[in-house]
Amino acid sequence: NTNRMVLEFESRSQNESFARTVVAAFVAALDPTIEELADIKTAVSEAVTNCIIHGYGDKIGIITMRCYIQDNELTVEVEDKGRGIEDIDKAMEPLYTSRPELERSGMGFSFMEAFMDELEVESIPGQGTLVRMKK
Ligand code: ATP
Ligand code: MG
Repeated sequence: NTNRMVLEFESRSQNESFARTVVAAFVAALDPTIEELADIKTAVSEAVTNCIIHGYGDKIGIITMRCYIQDNELTVEVEDKGRGIEDIDKAMEPLYTSRPELERSGMGFSFMEAFMDELEVESIPGQGTLVRMKK
């Protein structure tokens, strides 16, 4: 069972639910449980929201989502070409947020980690961020 897809969309808030719906449709081939599907959708929402809010901020940029199915495993990559992350370890700490004034709770990465089996973050300040998740 092997498959792949790539989706590019603008960093507009309505595209968060769009991306989540696309992943759900793509992963249907793996016959996930309701709970697995909910976990994947939540994790993708968090990753896409981060690209919109932190990666691009007030600007509109392109978010690329790549999904792979290999055997019984889903890999999702969510990438932006925005501002990037200075200190990835600090950014991934529970409750850390660089935007408390926006009422962010700093739990996005913690949710991605909890709801997926694997989480990797690659980022270069000034160039962008790539989040890779597996389940
Ligand atoms: P919440 O997700 O709970 O609303 P948050 O987005 O601040 O709050 P996380 O999703 O855990 O929390 O992200 C932690 C921090 O990592 C962010 O505050 C931001 O500084 C940085 N960050 C995360 N994703 C990106 C990204 N795509 N581009 C730039 N910075 C990012
Ligand atoms: Mg977040």
